[in-house]
Amino acid sequence: MFLVFIYSALIIVPFISVSTEASIAERTKFSKDLASKKRNFRVFVDPGHGGVDAGATSQTIKESDITFDIAQELVTLLSKGSVSVSTQISHAENEYVAPEQRLQRAQKFKADILISIHVNWSKDLTAKGMEIYFQNQLPPDQDSLYLAHRESELGHKGVENHNLPSANLLPTVVSTEVRAIIGDLFKNQQLYQSSRLAIALKKNWQGQSPVRSIRQLPFIVVSYPEIPSVLVEVGFLSHTEEFKLLTSPSYQKRVAKNLFDGIIHYYENEIMDK
Ligand SMILES: [Zn+2]
Repeated sequence: MFLVFIYSALIIVPFISVSTEASIAERTKFSKDLASKKRNFRVFVDPGHGGVDAGATSQTIKESDITFDIAQELVTLLSKGSVSVSTQISHAENEYVAPEQRLQRAQKFKADILISIHVNWSKDLTAKGMEIYFQNQLPPDQDSLYLAHRESELGHKGVENHNLPSANLLPTVVSTEVRAIIGDLFKNQQLYQSSRLAIALKKNWQGQSPVRSIRQLPFIVVSYPEIPSVLVEVGFLSHTEEFKLLTSPSYQKRVAKNLFDGIIHYYENEIMDK
């Protein structure tokens, strides 16, 4: 079995600016419009890797091919479902897009949620099942750091900055204490929503193996504080059985359906007016 790691994209997201009161008010109205069905639910789907960044590879199989197929199926399901959803996929097949650019595309799209789809790999060949990650404000544990290191994409400067104090997500433009508090509350709300999305995905997961964990980790692609975001690792390419499943179109469709069910569960339970 042959594996390629392309290291990169941990961590700090320097271009993120803190929410101002005006942008918070705008965002709040945007959320209310969604809850009262005045507009579509906007889902940004990010197939992990792409182009020169294949992600994990095993034999001739590339992670980027699997994630793109699942993402496309998910977009199809979302556009056919009973909920009014607008979708955007982060990049074309075989296109490399840096994590920061993916986030910028999600922002421009005004995404309500972001889901980044990946396939796992481990030196422990018995490791199997799904892992779900969402935004991080805490120093990550060593296992998570290893994964972030591995999952990183091109252009990363290294993994020296292991600590991710919350100050790095609320940079220096904070000029008043009140604004900082508002920004913190808003960010925490989005962080909470990310955790709710992660839980909804876990509840609706019916893959071959169960969800192993839900954890926080500073992947760039899930670190934008105004968009509830999760990164899912839908199985292990390094596990013999899961390798067969993940490369099968029928199982990829099953994975996409589980993700779809989780997203709709989140929409119905966390967004809609009760
Ligand atoms: Zn990946």
